[in-house]
Amino acid sequence: EPARPLLAVNNIEVIYDHVILVLKGVSLSVPEGGIVALLGANGAGKTTTLKAVSNLLGAERGEVTKGTIELAGERVEELSPNALVRRGVVQVMEGRHCFEHLTVEENLLTGAYTRSDGGRAIAEDLERVYRYFPRLKERRTSLAGYISGGEQQMCAIGRALMARPKMILLDEPSMGLAPQLVEEIFEIVKQLNETEGVSILLAEQNTNVALKYAKYGYILENGRIVLDGDARALRENEDVKEFYLGIA
Ligand code: ATP
Repeated sequence: EPARPLLAVNNIEVIYDHVILVLKGVSLSVPEGGIVALLGANGAGKTTTLKAVSNLLGAERGEVTKGTIELAGERVEELSPNALVRRGVVQVMEGRHCFEHLTVEENLLTGAYTRSDGGRAIAEDLERVYRYFPRLKERRTSLAGYISGGEQQMCAIGRALMARPKMILLDEPSMGLAPQLVEEIFEIVKQLNETEGVSILLAEQNTNVALKYAKYGYILENGRIVLDGDARALRENEDVKEFYLGIA
């Protein structure tokens, strides 16, 4: 019998504004310690899926109207976003979302807001983030609004790490970044996964890079999962090659 997944999304439906049906029964799971990619074109419903998991749809007038979401076997649909952070589920939003008027270090410290352990542990974690992201250490006193896009993405991931997550929901980290920086960021994500055991659910339009780092992938089209499998199998799938990898 396979081990119980860390995250299980079971047949969820999401409706915006009471009428716009965007997810039409999406199921996926992330094993403990896994990296799973959620792939699909712009508008397929990737962000909506991640926001359903972290319960951030309310602010957008979206609602999960069917299905269940389980974290380590426990239902979590009713938990607030903060309660989910305390349970170890942290979302890194698309577009990076650092506080532009705060310094890099202040941004990182905001990531520890749900923690009740003391300043000492938080200071240690700040050093831990700087070990993963030496560029952020160099930039620690810069205002986040004035650092590069790649550094802002690092800052957003570093901020998530400050919450000591079990799982990071990473929304389109490659967006707007040069290929070399994309690789640099994915390498760090891979290290976090391998060294800290952080599980990753990654939404990406960049199928190539996502399937290089993920072990398993799901392809979302128009609010439905149309294909899923091991990353290697997906890379070799003819439809995936033709429609998502551009190397038919
Ligand atoms: P992207 O790469 O653009 O983020 P995505 O796959 O993440 O794409 P979503 O952002 O989840 O897609 O959007 C899925 C669908 O839901 C789109 O058709 C979008 O127009 C619609 N949608 C998203 N947010 C809302 C909203 N607040 N109200 C109504 N419709 C929305």
